[in-house]
Amino acid sequence: MRTLAVRASKTYDIYIGNRLLDEAGDYLQKIVGGNIAAIVTDDLVDQLYSGIVEESLVNSGYKVVKFVIARGERSKNAENYLRLLDFLSENKLSRSDVVVALGGGVVGDLAGFSASTYLRGVKLVQMPTTLLAAVDASVGGKTAINLKSGKNQAGTFYQPDLVLSDYSTFKTLEQTVFQDGCSEIIKYGMIASAELFSIIKEPLMPQLEEVIYRCLSIKRDIVAEDERDSGQRQLLNFGHTIGHGIEACSNYAVSHGSAVAIGMVLITRAAVKLGYCSDNCLTEISYMVTSFGLPASSPYTSEQLFACAAADKKLRGKKITLVIPEAIGKCVLKEMPLDELQHLIELGIGS
Ligand code: NAD
Repeated sequence: MRTLAVRASKTYDIYIGNRLLDEAGDYLQKIVGGNIAAIVTDDLVDQLYSGIVEESLVNSGYKVVKFVIARGERSKNAENYLRLLDFLSENKLSRSDVVVALGGGVVGDLAGFSASTYLRGVKLVQMPTTLLAAVDASVGGKTAINLKSGKNQAGTFYQPDLVLSDYSTFKTLEQTVFQDGCSEIIKYGMIASAELFSIIKEPLMPQLEEVIYRCLSIKRDIVAEDERDSGQRQLLNFGHTIGHGIEACSNYAVSHGSAVAIGMVLITRAAVKLGYCSDNCLTEISYMVTSFGLPASSPYTSEQLFACAAADKKLRGKKITLVIPEAIGKCVLKEMPLDELQHLIELGIGS
């Protein structure tokens, strides 16, 4: 087992290990406390892992209540958010009680947003069950729901009290969902660690714990510097502006990880054409993305993509900050007028 401490507006530990869910109750009692644990999960994860977690929590003295959403990105919506707040209220959760987000990034973002706003904040434990949530969404405190106008348009910064990352749960992931997590791992390699980029050329499974640890170490350091996303944290958005555009264009039929993979390749191709990085950078990232079974080209035209990407919340006035690769392991932030995003997307889509 590996552990990591995050020091942001709240200090908390991340535990990364095998079969940690079996001992969830012990961890919660020792670290978080409270009397009621409200498990938030989706219908698929519910069938697979709620039982283990519930049993462990009950054995440790918790009263357990459970809120189940339908699986998938479309559930990260305002209706479920309000339903969940009502559910917490009906079950009389107090500020010392705890919301347990058991699932992928969709559950984590929705449960986190609810925990941060119900009673102006109750305790929150993230139990990621997808690779993507383990290496990214469960840590760092961004919570969100999607609005009709776009992805993650309502949300908060709200750090969890504890993250229990049990990678034994990945054995039941569909291959495409596992691949989505690989997309965020490639992202960490690109923005901060040529060494990580290199080790993931070897088979991932035997080094999963180490890879999760390395990704979260990068995220932990960035979040400690810039919790509220006004500076270096924006590096974590590499590939995401175009990626969010693709998600929105597809009405969330294209998954987050796949969309980010396409976004990373497109922005790197544009960066090569503008002379920011070498052709080798594009070769490497394209190879990596496709070798993990992820898509590397846009199903949409540049006009369609620009229209969707321009609705991204990271717009500041008529300007946008984009993450531009300079080399494997090194990206920089560049603020540019919105029109330039359109040009970059055109360059990125072109062969
Ligand atoms: P997801 O939560 O939709 O999970 C994908 C699918 O996997 C779902 O159908 C789910 O039921 C299933 N699943 C989950 N765990 C399983 C398991 N162990 N075995 C079998 N099936 C399982 O998607 P995701 O890829 O985990 O997360 C994507 C979301 O995360 C997006 O909404 C994205 O915006 C968000 N995100 C947030 C942050 C953040 O910092 N808050 C960072 C990255 C991504």
